[in-house]
Amino acid sequence: MPKRKLQCEICNEKSSKYTCPKCEIRTCNIDCCKLHKVKYQCDGKYDFVKLDSRSDLDILKLKSDLTFLSSIDREIDDFEKLLSHVSC
Ligand SMILES: [Zn+2]
Ligand SMILES: [Zn+2]
Repeated sequence: MPKRKLQCEICNEKSSKYTCPKCEIRTCNIDCCKLHKVKYQCDGKYDFVKLDSRSDLDILKLKSDLTFLSSIDREIDDFEKLLSHVSC
């Protein structure tokens, strides 16, 4: 029995060349990559936080600053409340 290679998860025929940075689906070529985006509703972009506007960037920076000051729990709680207003 041949050793199993990591195959394209879309066509299941060819060995994969690409791995989607977002959903980690393996694809063999650009066509399969496009297909996976439709199938899994993936945009193929790595987004650990959805950043749609500059204000979100500021929020992210603010959060990292607050995380750095993690000993101040109360302020982080306040920030989480703020975040819940901002995020959709
Ligand atoms: Zn393929
Ligand atoms: Zn993907």
